[in-house]
Amino acid sequence: MSAPRDRLRIAVQKSGRLAETSLDLLRRAGLSFRASRDRLFLFGDNLPIDVLLVRDDDIPGLLREGSCELGMVGRNVLDEQSLATPGVVFPKVVSTLGFGRCHLAIAVPQEMPWGSPADLEGLRIATSYPALLAAWLAREGVAAEVVTLNGSVEIAPRLGKADVICDLVSTGATLQANQLREVATVLDSEAVLARTPRALSPLLAELAERLQARIDGALSGAQ
Ligand code: ATP
Ligand code: ZN
Repeated sequence: MSAPRDRLRIAVQKSGRLAETSLDLLRRAGLSFRASRDRLFLFGDNLPIDVLLVRDDDIPGLLREGSCELGMVGRNVLDEQSLATPGVVFPKVVSTLGFGRCHLAIAVPQEMPWGSPADLEGLRIATSYPALLAAWLAREGVAAEVVTLNGSVEIAPRLGKADVICDLVSTGATLQANQLREVATVLDSEAVLARTPRALSPLLAELAERLQARIDGALSGAQ
């Protein structure tokens, strides 16, 4: 077994919608960094805290296995992965971060009439969030076919792969460009600070508390 770590690790998205704002928040929390050669880490200069730069989808798993103690990730990604693997202990949300706001929504072709979720009965719904969608359909008491796609969900109806979609929406511009309209919300999401479910050494626990407090301080200063 390797020696226990003496530096805290926080995982953030390497590139994408959450990447810049996550790093800005860490800077506002008082951290400064220099990049590693391979661009996997940013090493903290002023505190024993390093940033792990990864795909957002990898963050819940890294927290679960204890490769990092904290992570900034969309609630949509965290909830999808925990619903998809029942019985596994998942990272806990310790703060909501106020950026990366979006919602997972049902969108239908513009000309399709809509009254209620019951109208989805028997239809094919394309999504990258099959577990969140299936849980919502079960709550609504609707039997529909979930078609899992890893990307380009919004073009699935035009390709004949699905009748309607369930996708992340922020401005609605993508839906409009694809002649779709939003009719129901499955989940409201934003970036969250999540913490490993594993027990931490006293040193890492103390560093995690300090960083959480600094992040909360930076967030309340911004309001
Ligand atoms: P990665 O390469 O890290 O896997 P990605 O393509 O999965 O990136 P992004 O598109 O950068 O992810 O989105 C990251 C997160 O940003 C989403 O999981 C969601 O929480 C949030 N988000 C906010 N608005 C939107 C939007 N309009 N569409 C998609 N995600 C959004
Ligand atoms: Zn991703």
